[in-house]
Amino acid sequence: MDYALIIDGKRHLTSDSSEVRNPSTGGVVGRMPNAQPQDLENAVAAAKRAFATWSQKSDEERRAACHAVADKIEAHAEELAQLLTAEQGKPLGGMGSRFELGGTVAWTRVTADLELKPEVLQDTPEGRVELHRKPVGVVGSITPWNWPLLIASWHIIPALRTGNTVVIKPSPYTPLSTLRMVELANEVLPPGVLNAISGPDSLGAAMSSHPDISKMVFTGSTATGRKVMASAAPTLKKLTLELGGNDAGIVLPDADPKAIAPGVFWGAFNNNGQTCAALKRLYVHDSIYDEMCKELVAFAKTVPMGDGMDEKNQLGPVQNKMQYDKVSALVDDAVKSGGRVLMGGNPSGGPGYFYPITLIADVKDGMRVVDEEQFGPVLPIIRYSDTSTIVEQANRNPNGLGGSVWSSDVAKAKKLAQGLECGSAWVNKHGAIQPNAPFGGVKQSGLGVEFGAEGLKEYTTIQTVFV
Ligand code: NAD
Repeated sequence: MDYALIIDGKRHLTSDSSEVRNPSTGGVVGRMPNAQPQDLENAVAAAKRAFATWSQKSDEERRAACHAVADKIEAHAEELAQLLTAEQGKPLGGMGSRFELGGTVAWTRVTADLELKPEVLQDTPEGRVELHRKPVGVVGSITPWNWPLLIASWHIIPALRTGNTVVIKPSPYTPLSTLRMVELANEVLPPGVLNAISGPDSLGAAMSSHPDISKMVFTGSTATGRKVMASAAPTLKKLTLELGGNDAGIVLPDADPKAIAPGVFWGAFNNNGQTCAALKRLYVHDSIYDEMCKELVAFAKTVPMGDGMDEKNQLGPVQNKMQYDKVSALVDDAVKSGGRVLMGGNPSGGPGYFYPITLIADVKDGMRVVDEEQFGPVLPIIRYSDTSTIVEQANRNPNGLGGSVWSSDVAKAKKLAQGLECGSAWVNKHGAIQPNAPFGGVKQSGLGVEFGAEGLKEYTTIQTVFV
């Protein structure tokens, strides 16, 4: 199949394209069209034209349109899941591609049904004051390669629901499933309301500085987020930045290692650890440290990793060489610094970017594998002995996306979790998100929130009306 840019409701083939490869096999999945500067201009111009009518549609019409998009995705879920596995590597089953498509449909429907009603702030003989929310205009969306379709829906649907139009640019590592999903959505949306362009990173930079884009929603690394913020500054764009994380999980002395091992494992290794809000530093109390390590190894050994197309696998490869090299470097550094590999390390060297599930004990803050976001199948396990200072220790990291506390005493765990400097705090689980609850980072993990009514508000400006 020829993958095309989607501009003004039409497929647009480019003269230039790049190969997209399957990270399990190295085989070519398809070709990504490389948008030229004029294609970006055409996409933004189409979105700007469409805004004039889309922003005037009734709430009911836009809700129905978002549900129609959900219907389309649902009807093509298996096709999209196969394409996603081919280009991203994640398995079809488990918490892989079919799960991601299910989430995409669910988020689309819940967001379609959200509503931001005008508020009356005052109604007295002195006057009436109303708060109204208006769409911002053309929204530029830039997405990463870990959850390409789910994150695309997180950007697109709240923007459309509130009356904006969109130009989306997927990651060059995983562009094909997004181009196809946008093509399908265009079968039920008016032309120009949702446009997709693909190409190199420079295309993202051109979007962030484009004068006719009023808001950028960006999900990716903190380093790139800073660049988006800088290039958006001259045109004072609104921003939502969902950036990197290095979430801590704290296991208290009264936790039951065997009972929590599966939850801790999947909190860390969901999508092979390539999840923004994955558990990336596990702090375990000295009194149960060895038992926790033993139970994690025992559980990890039951999880099959391999080609995502094979239905039996629950984890696939690392998505790309850059990330594979980073994971390898962090593990090598940890071993050199005295880390003890409980399982994993030593990748076989291909084919495919398979890095084994890796658990490392006897590591400390200050080692790269703890301080840096690994974004791969590696979990450093850190020993601690003082429960009264562990939250403060966990907070000594620039990131602030998520965090968790594990204990048999839920009230105590909740209190400690609330002391973590992060946007989402979990008790006895990690990384669970849902479309009706706001999600976002603090500190260097981002600006703004997604999901729920709070997320919807990010796509609007306030107009206060005094009568
Ligand atoms: P990345 O920052 O390398 O790339 C993200 C996107 O930015 C890609 O589409 C890329 O083409 C584009 N881009 C690159 N340079 C650009 C520039 N100068 N201007 C504009 N756009 C540019 O991130 P990645 O490696 O694709 O994703 C992994 C990172 O994303 C991790 O740090 C992870 O934690 C983070 N992430 C965060 C969330 C969240 O919700 N907070 C969710 C998923 C991933």
